[in-house]
Order: sequence, then C-alpha cells, then structure tokens
Amino acid sequence: VIRCRAAVAWAVGKPLSVEEVEVAPPKAGEVRVKIVATGICHTEKHVLEGSFPNVHFPVIPGHEGAGIVESIGEGVTSLKPGDKVIPLCIPQCGECTFCLNPESNFCLKSHLYEPQNLMPDKTSRFTCKGKQIHHFLWLSTFAEYTVIPECALAKIDAAAPLEKVCLFGCGFPTGYGAAINTAKVKPGSTCAVFGLGGVGLSAVMGCKAAGASRIIAVDINKDKFAKAKELGATDCICPHDFKKPIQEVLTEMTGHGVDYSFEVIGRADTMTAALASCNMSTGVCVMVGVLDSGSAISVDPILLLSGRTWKGTLLGGWKTRESIPKLVSSYMEKKFKSDLLITHTLPIAKVNEGIELLCAGK
Ligand code: NAD
Ligand code: ZN
Ligand code: ZN
Repeated sequence: VIRCRAAVAWAVGKPLSVEEVEVAPPKAGEVRVKIVATGICHTEKHVLEGSFPNVHFPVIPGHEGAGIVESIGEGVTSLKPGDKVIPLCIPQCGECTFCLNPESNFCLKSHLYEPQNLMPDKTSRFTCKGKQIHHFLWLSTFAEYTVIPECALAKIDAAAPLEKVCLFGCGFPTGYGAAINTAKVKPGSTCAVFGLGGVGLSAVMGCKAAGASRIIAVDINKDKFAKAKELGATDCICPHDFKKPIQEVLTEMTGHGVDYSFEVIGRADTMTAALASCNMSTGVCVMVGVLDSGSAISVDPILLLSGRTWKGTLLGGWKTRESIPKLVSSYMEKKFKSDLLITHTLPIAKVNEGIELLCAGK
C-alpha cells in the first residue's frame, strides 16, 4: 500500500480537500501509476457540482493526467514499471463490438455505458480516514498515485514531458479531433467555434490543421481572443457586442452560415445557436460541451429537415490506446502548439485555486 496525497471530493458542492490516502496495489489486469501532472478540464466542475452522470461520492476526480507506471498487476503484458503513460477517459479494450468497429471510439467499457466508480472487480483501491473512496472514470488523476485498468492506459514516448502532454488525456485530442475526425473539416471551408477554453482552442487548432480558410471564434470573454488568433482564428466575436442573435450574425458574415460549427461550452442556448449557425443544407454542427446530466434541449426540427447534420463527440473520436501515443509523437515533432493552452502551473495543495482560475476564465 502506498500512502500519498490526493484531492478528495467528499460531497456534492464542497471544495476539494487534499488528504493523505492509501492506494492499494494493482490487482489482475490493473496498473498503479505515479501521476506527475494533471490538467483541469471543465468536466471536473460538472463532477464537483454533481451534474456529471453516475459519479459516486466521496470521489477522487481528475481525468487529464500523465504519469509513470509504478507497478503492474498479474497478467498485464503491454506495460512495465517505468513506462510513461497517459490515462484514457475512454478505454480501448480492443474486443467489444464498438472497439472492433473502425468508425467508433466508444468502447463499451466506457463510463457512460457502465459506470467506472470502482475497478472492474467492483472494489476501490483508495481509502482515506478508514473510508472507501470512489474512482472517477477509472482514472482519478487528482491523486499522486492511482490504479487504472491496463485497457485505459496509453504508453507514450519515453522522452515526452509529462507536465505538458497531460493535456493529451482530454482537452487537446477532444477539440482537435472534433474538427479532424468528427466534423471532418475540409480545406477551404468556414468554421465557427463557440467557447475558447482549452477544448475550444484545440478545436480552432484542428480546423486550422484541416485547412479551413475562415475560423470564427465566439466567446463572451474577450481575453480569450489573442490566443485564439495566435492558434488560427481569423475572426473573433463576442455575442454581447450584437443586438441580434449570434446565429444571425454568423449567417450574415458567411452568406449562408458556416460549413462546420462546434459548441465547446456546455450550454443549451449555445448548442441551439451553434446548430442554427451552420449552413441549412450541408452544415455540420458538432456538440462537444457537456450539459448537466438530466437536462434537455429543444430545437425546431426544421433546422435538421433542411439537411444539416448534428453530431456529438467524445474525446474527439480517437480510438484512444492506438491514437494518443501517435498524437504525443506528433507533439514531440513540434506539430502542435498545445503548450499555449497551459496558463498556470500549481502544486496539488492549490487544486481549488486551479478550479477557481478555470471558472474565472483565466
Ligand atoms: P472552459 O471553461 O475552459 O471554457 C469554456 C469557454 O466558454 C470559456 O472561455 C467561456 O468564456 C466560454 N463561454 C461561457 N459561456 C459562453 C457563452 N454564453 N457564449 C460564448 N462563450 C461562452 O471549458 P473547457 O475545459 O474548454 O471545456 C468546454 C466544454 O467541453 C465543457 O462543457 C466540458 O465539460 C466539455 N468537454 C467535453 C469533452 C468531450 O469529450 N465531449 C471533453 C472535454 C471537455
Ligand atoms: Zn475533460
Ligand atoms: Zn472496447
């Protein structure tokens, strides 16, 4: 058993509390990982507010990390102590019907199909003050050590800087893949990205890499515009600067709406605005933002009858175990500017400050 620090969410709506926890050794098919760095994605906020589906408290959150294998359980063959890894919020078991389908990245071992609050044998590897603590998405990267099933770990380049490539656990591949894989943005096309957090800025990078000729970035926080321009946005607009709805503004700016729109905020009103912003006949709208679990949105079906396509994406559509290491290798070849997404670096003791910075749009 390893004793280390972890940020524990004891109950819905409470700030995280940094505690000493015990981390049991990995059982068969599991791997114990020393987490070196973790990013903070907006989804953590949903978890702390209790609006992410099927999370059980107390829980150790965190899903955008990078680390080093400390020990392996029986039967683990693809990883050994010392390997650098990225924990995967969508596993790739390689055996389920979805893994076998080249079109899908939604492994049936994913949390949204079968909750990952406990290890596959339905027990936890974490205890704190004598209480069992739940896992989150099988990852719990807000702990210095965590236990993860082998199928939810990607082995990456031994030279990769973990404090930078932790973003390849969620934010970067999600936004980038939303453009490349889910929307399949074509060269010369027009795009609109709603929301310029880590994920939205990665979608801007994906649109640019795909050769879009116009990328319109939309955010209510104008402080985000300089970085969006640096990463490829050609226009940056703030909905508050217009009297008319933003979908009308975008339609006027482009003639008949953009070819591809992306909602990367997680709000019902911006989801419908993003849908209405794309071309009424051939436009594709990709939903990336996460709405509170149980909430619903209503749209006029005529928006789709005219031909639009409305899609969603989880982790940008990548088949994770095989694709994340390749993305990290491309990063090592300096193909992505993902380092620009890192605004602050804090020790684990200041995890709540990190979440406040995210919520304050900083
Ligand atoms: P973030 O908080 O860093 O960024 C959100 C951005 O949206 C901010 O810049 C904010 O100013 C902007 N915004 C808020 N309200 C707005 C409005 N009304 N109009 C325009 N802009 C507005 O968040 P993030 O970490 O980039 O995550 C974005 C969303 O993506 C979240 O909902 C998160 O849960 C979701 N997400 C989904 C996946 C997936 O696999 N589908 C993966 C990661 C994150
Ligand atoms: Zn995330
Ligand atoms: Zn699978």
